[in-house]
Amino acid sequence: MSLPEFKLLRPRTLEEALATLDTHAGNIRVLAGGTDLIPSMRQKLFEPQSVLDLRAIAELRGIRPQADGGLEIGALTSIRSLERSAFLREHFPVLTEAAATIASPVLRNMGTIGGNICLDTRCLWYNQSLTWRKGCGFCIKKDGDLCHVAPGGTKCWAAFSGDTPPALLCLNAEVEIASVAGRRRIALNDFYTGSGDNYRRLQPNELVTRVFLPASMADYHGVYRKLRVRGSIDYPLAGVAVAMKRTNGHIRDARVAITAVNPAPVLIPNVSELLADKNLDETLAQMAGDLAARVSKPLTTSALTPEYRREMIRVFTKRALLAAAEN
Ligand SMILES: Cc1cc2nc3c(=O)[nH]c(=O)nc-3n(C[C@H](O)[C@H](O)[C@H](O)COP(=O)(O)OP(=O)(O)OC[C@H]3O[C@@H](n4cnc5c(N)ncnc54)[C@H](O)[C@@H]3O)c2cc1C
Ligand code: SF4
Repeated sequence: MSLPEFKLLRPRTLEEALATLDTHAGNIRVLAGGTDLIPSMRQKLFEPQSVLDLRAIAELRGIRPQADGGLEIGALTSIRSLERSAFLREHFPVLTEAAATIASPVLRNMGTIGGNICLDTRCLWYNQSLTWRKGCGFCIKKDGDLCHVAPGGTKCWAAFSGDTPPALLCLNAEVEIASVAGRRRIALNDFYTGSGDNYRRLQPNELVTRVFLPASMADYHGVYRKLRVRGSIDYPLAGVAVAMKRTNGHIRDARVAITAVNPAPVLIPNVSELLADKNLDETLAQMAGDLAARVSKPLTTSALTPEYRREMIRVFTKRALLAAAEN
């Protein structure tokens, strides 16, 4: 599959990138590592006139501990750097665990945290070549007006399939969004819309520039569990992140977030209340698993059945909580 023709633009500063994005908004695509964008362009899912290559913008790279104990991560920081950061492993381990499961070593070298947060949603009927999609009459997410997964509905259920966002949700992360008009900072929890087609709250002239982890979430035990077809290189088909703080054997706070089973990564409500001040046992962990399974809404967007994926959310939540409590 060949790439469509496009003009490659390579700004050297953030200001230059934002001005270029503003001028071409609507007809330009942002490239960070390109590990998802380029295959999607080959499948003609995107055919922009221009591609804005961010890779020369040094200020967008790096993991920078803050004076207050929090952390700032530049959007262009590679997944490999997250996986290898001793600071992250010590203080925000759920993020290194999730990063280490992404794709393969080569793709982790190229792929960035900004690209992982902004990753397009996935579906069996969408991540296909133009010829394949044409044969099926297209669908709501691209060029069509019906959904093959939920016929009769008007919503796209393509699944958000990034691994770091559930870990970041557990860590109460915020993202900085920049445009020529200025910068704003929002909770990652507010970044996703919950719809498979228009899945993120990002204007065409905006970039994600930085990720912030608060000091209050440092030193939580962290575990990430992931279901995929090929263990060596694959998107998640169900994923569970857990961050937990304990005092004297009792849980002080526990957070669980899931991915790949809804059009957005989701922080499971009421887990903290269920587990706070308790000594974790199998029954409690199972109850938290039931909560997570109830929130997951997998449909036939991938190779594995929705029933199996939902069950694995229940099982992984239980196992991840028990593992976090053993740390
Ligand atoms: C075989 C294969 C297996 C994979 N397995 C996994 C997996 O297991 N888990 C997983 O999470 N991902 C997986 N991926 C997807 C991808 O490699 C990762 O998600 C990676 O982190 C994407 O980062 P990137 O920098 O390459 O993004 P890009 O491909 O450059 O961009 C992805 C999207 O985000 C947008 N974007 C990127 N950066 C910004 C920014 N700063 N501001 C605004 N928009 C931006 C782009 O325009 C594009 O829409 C896989 C990909 C392949 C090809
Ligand atoms: S969920 Fe439906 S609309 Fe969305 S990509 Fe799949 S088939 Fe298309």
